[in-house]
Amino acid sequence: MRSTVRDCPVCGAAAAPVLHERDAVPVHQNLLFDTAEAARAVARGRIELAACMACGFVFNAAFDERLLSYGARYENAQDCSPAFAAYVADLVARIVDAGARGAQIVELGCGKGTFLRRLVEDVSLGNSGLGIDPAYVGPETDLDGRIRFRRTFFESADAADTVDVVVCRHVIEHVASPVAMLEGVRDLVSASPHARVYFETPCVDWVLGNRVIWDIFYEHCSYFNPRSLRYAFERCGFAVGGVRHVFGGQYLWLEASPAPPGGRGAAPSGGESTAALAREFAAAFESLAGQWGASLGDAAAHGKTAVWGAGAKGVTFANLLDPQGTSIDCVIDINPRKQGRYLPGTGHPIVSYREAAHRGVRTAFLMNPNYAAENRALLEQAGLNMELR
Ligand SMILES: [Zn+2]
Repeated sequence: MRSTVRDCPVCGAAAAPVLHERDAVPVHQNLLFDTAEAARAVARGRIELAACMACGFVFNAAFDERLLSYGARYENAQDCSPAFAAYVADLVARIVDAGARGAQIVELGCGKGTFLRRLVEDVSLGNSGLGIDPAYVGPETDLDGRIRFRRTFFESADAADTVDVVVCRHVIEHVASPVAMLEGVRDLVSASPHARVYFETPCVDWVLGNRVIWDIFYEHCSYFNPRSLRYAFERCGFAVGGVRHVFGGQYLWLEASPAPPGGRGAAPSGGESTAALAREFAAAFESLAGQWGASLGDAAAHGKTAVWGAGAKGVTFANLLDPQGTSIDCVIDINPRKQGRYLPGTGHPIVSYREAAHRGVRTAFLMNPNYAAENRALLEQAGLNMELR
């Protein structure tokens, strides 16, 4: 079965051991499907999760980027949630307070452009923005020409003359060669020694330590902890100002600037602790999946069940625990662009919480605890009775 041995793509250490494997997983977690049949026919790939003992970088050694296509049907907007909107407002304020005024801002992987607009829309800040994303949908310029978009993957040749701020949120975990990407970002700011670079990505130590089995999936081929993220940036010619945990510890927020020539950072270190977490996660995986399966069965004794959250987490949970789409009734999502569509891999229908209640759902399994209070409030306001787990 095990076919792949690879050196660490971040630090180059030899033969990172494969610790956890999954077969025939959907390659896309955020692609929308109009029929259950099309959803079940999604392309599938293999996960061989490897952990570098030297730098702690975790990656899918069996990842094949040719299987993926990030086009206009890719839908990962989270802006429907008030909790997420508040979190985003905090990040925007952080960037502006650090001096993003009169700045040329480039966002790599800007999605639908929501975040970049927040940085540019206030005319008094004097910012202009360039968003780059193959999945961008919308006008090529907006806000009186102060914001522009390019529907393409990032290449360093796209560089504007000067770049004052680079933002890249939830992209690097989708990139199989993060070092090549960061070298491209370094080129992008080569004429801007005072540029500030902000990256956000999940923290692998949080996923593994909390044993969130649905937070490992195909689209994410590269997983960082604070140390490996810092190491990757330093190796690529950045001076790292800090790496903080944000969003309840789930994500990492890195701030960096171009380092003067010659500084290439320290040697990789501290990989053992993440490798140990990965080993424990792998050893516990079958038992964790069994516990969640038992919990689903227990809930099903009281009525229909649902998963709340049709993003990557919900897709992975449903594919792990109900691959045939026979025990979970539906998947709830508050994003109206997802409702009426079908979940990749399993073909579960995606519905609003009102429709789930109408279908007779009595229990919903929450995929992200950060939204628990918000979801509970929605149900209460609607006078709906549904247990959240
Ligand atoms: Zn490494």
